[in-house]
Amino acid sequence: MKIATLNKGKETKYLNQYPLVDEEDIYQHDHLKEGDLFYLMTESDQYIATAYVGRQHKGLGWVLSYDQNEVINTQFFESLFKQALEEREYYYHIEGTNAFRLFNAEGDGVGGLTIDNYNGHLLIQWYSRGIYKFRYNVVEAIQNVFEFKSIYEKMRFKDTEYTGGHVLGETPEFPIVIEENFTFYNVDLNDGLMTGIFLDQKEVRKKLRDHFSEGRTILNLFSYTGAFSVIAAQNAEMTTSVDLANRSRALTEENFGLNGIDPKSQYIYVMDTFDFYNYAARHAKQYDTIVIDPPSFARNKKKTFSVQKNYDDLINGALDILAPNGSMLLCTNSSVFPLKSFKNVIKKTLESAGVEYEIEEVMGLPKDFKTHPHYKPSKYLKAVFLNIKH
Ligand code: SAH
Repeated sequence: MKIATLNKGKETKYLNQYPLVDEEDIYQHDHLKEGDLFYLMTESDQYIATAYVGRQHKGLGWVLSYDQNEVINTQFFESLFKQALEEREYYYHIEGTNAFRLFNAEGDGVGGLTIDNYNGHLLIQWYSRGIYKFRYNVVEAIQNVFEFKSIYEKMRFKDTEYTGGHVLGETPEFPIVIEENFTFYNVDLNDGLMTGIFLDQKEVRKKLRDHFSEGRTILNLFSYTGAFSVIAAQNAEMTTSVDLANRSRALTEENFGLNGIDPKSQYIYVMDTFDFYNYAARHAKQYDTIVIDPPSFARNKKKTFSVQKNYDDLINGALDILAPNGSMLLCTNSSVFPLKSFKNVIKKTLESAGVEYEIEEVMGLPKDFKTHPHYKPSKYLKAVFLNIKH
């Protein structure tokens, strides 16, 4: 077995089960390559953990086991999958939802690997070339543990020509329809990086429908396939969806259609959010609830946008078109933008704008997106519901 020796003084961090092996903590290693297994050792040759090399944007790789005798084979993955499945039993038995995450990377014991269930069609996401080297074992273990109609995969790392596709089972005609909180959405497991829906926001969507939509006008910015609009429309007076991508219009219309809502009865704009702010302000439009769920980074013709630097602009633009005593749902899924900083930006921006506000609810990931107790970035999702008094 290859070995990586820690710098003196770094043992405690890993003895306390920090799951990501940080390159800077390593004193020396045996020419480790992607997918290699190795023992993480102290400088006095004490075994701490078994890990694999899988470079994402961070770290050298992930700890897999704290037992030196544990062999990393199909059975290893099987026993983790079985445990993950037991913890998700609940989701198989609730009405109105048939899509959820089955295995959430380091939260369930293998950083760099996720498995989602879309109504029996499974999606594996590989986040590094290293974890992909375990593909044979992982796929075999999936077959032995999970029920499925089909399995698809996506490569979430760069420098690969093959970006994903069919692995096993049926080849359904996409889109397939999934149900979540009694709402239907189209999903395509075989088209680019995204699937049509972000499963981590399911409870936030439900909250929006149940508590912030009744009789209101809703503006959904960065709307993608309109998931927030479609669920809100069940209670709202009217929804407006805004996304820069051309494809968003048809995808959003189809999702409305699936839920028996005439897409022509809702507004959809293919437009940059900031252009929309100008347009809406010029036409004196106002909205009761404004949803902002942007990508962490975006680039368009004119400028680049990052949630950490520019969230204040998003909030200020929204304030200009928020109806009196309106609400906002502000989200970010950036793991490098912690809740505390996010709340600070919200506070500063609203205070300088001179408006009073109340945080109604702060939400994070749902249970199926199990996080790692010693690895904070795994709690990447922040969703803040605010009531604004102005
Ligand atoms: N809120 C969505 C997910 C957003 S994904 C949901 O709940 O499903 C990010 C989306 O932002 C993409 O669809 C992308 O096209 C869009 N986008 C990126 N830059 C944008 C901009 N400047 N203005 C409007 N939309 C933008």
